[in-house]
Amino acid sequence: MQFVNSKAFAQGLDETDPLRSFRSQFFFPKVRPDAEYLYLCGNSLGLQPRSTRTMINEELDDWAKYGVEGHVEAKRPWIAYHENLTKMMAKIVGAKPHEVVCMNSLTVNLHLMMVSFYRPEGKRRQILIEAGAFPSDQYAVASQVRFHGFDPNTDILELAPREGEDTLRTEDILSYINEHGEKVALIMLGGVNYLSGQAYDMVAITKKGHEKGCTVGFDLAHAAGNITLELHDWNVDFAVWCTYKYLNSGPGGVAAAFVHERNLDKDLPRFEGWWGHNKERRFKMEAEFDPIPFSVEAWQLSTPPIFLLASLRASLKLFDQAGMKSIRAKSKTLTSYLEFLVEDTFGSRDWIITPRAPSERGAQLSFRIPKDGHGVLEALRNRGVICDFREPNIIRAAPAPLYNSYPPVPA
Ligand SMILES: *Cc1c(COP(=O)(O)O)cnc(C)c1O
Repeated sequence: MQFVNSKAFAQGLDETDPLRSFRSQFFFPKVRPDAEYLYLCGNSLGLQPRSTRTMINEELDDWAKYGVEGHVEAKRPWIAYHENLTKMMAKIVGAKPHEVVCMNSLTVNLHLMMVSFYRPEGKRRQILIEAGAFPSDQYAVASQVRFHGFDPNTDILELAPREGEDTLRTEDILSYINEHGEKVALIMLGGVNYLSGQAYDMVAITKKGHEKGCTVGFDLAHAAGNITLELHDWNVDFAVWCTYKYLNSGPGGVAAAFVHERNLDKDLPRFEGWWGHNKERRFKMEAEFDPIPFSVEAWQLSTPPIFLLASLRASLKLFDQAGMKSIRAKSKTLTSYLEFLVEDTFGSRDWIITPRAPSERGAQLSFRIPKDGHGVLEALRNRGVICDFREPNIIRAAPAPLYNSYPPVPA
């Protein structure tokens, strides 16, 4: 599409946007009572759907009305509440329902998955991650390596961009795996890098990793609800993600996990809790753990947080109505339009470190700010635009497509 830097052109894009109506289903922070912020921070904390309060209130009402009996008597019985979300979430990540469960928080799920899928043996004991991975992932991976009695300094391998480059080349990732794969027990990358916004070629990485005998998992914190995923078809071993970023579940929202069905009937080590116990027999209070058969639900530990699930359910319903295909299509156009406007205004995109190809990124552009990034962020805010800053010098702008539109919002 040939973009034009004009209000009329932007309005034209808005008028033919099939997802246009979704914007009105969200609350926006306001500059003034009559002016909303342009919110480009959905990669950090998504906005609140207007339906969230209703969904949480339904559960508060049922709690008031039924007390403990709400576990079975509530309109949506709490014992099985998480099942109301499974199909919708499975669609978002391209999985079968028994491969997906909403539970815990992201770093917790990452640990639970590594307990099962980081199985160092003999010479194969390293974990491959991207250099500068999200800190929590670095801590989780290092502590797992130490837990097995190994040394993070030698047993964590990091993929770094070439000298002078900001993102990884797929060819480099693949040849690295080719060369070092025999020592690698687990490849664990972000699906979309939180800082650069680069989307990795998960298909090629998974294939190459498996060829070399590695287990392959992804942290999809910045990918779920952002880019289209086909975790089942891609044959990914496991994945984890949070839901408060693109998936709008609210601060500290419940996270999710995926385990490929070919791993579900394996005899894997697992840290277990009563919510993963055979559903028919959970309340028989048996001494011996009997995992929920052929389902990632066997990894559940605890009584689920119903209010958090209710909040997530509100947002998943919007994703279900919109569909990831339309969301991704709009995301590509909207992000490219933002990039075009920046380039047209400043005459260069040199300071954008996110890849140019829409297939190699989601709804995020990362800008390297030569000096005073905090000041630039503040100046943007004063102009009615909310972005965020990540050390050392990156401003991230994410035009999340469900609630952003083409014309700039007058502040
Ligand atoms: C946001 C994010 C996290 C945050 O983890 P929590 O356990 O939800 O606090 C972890 N890893 C990545 C890659 C992230 O983007």
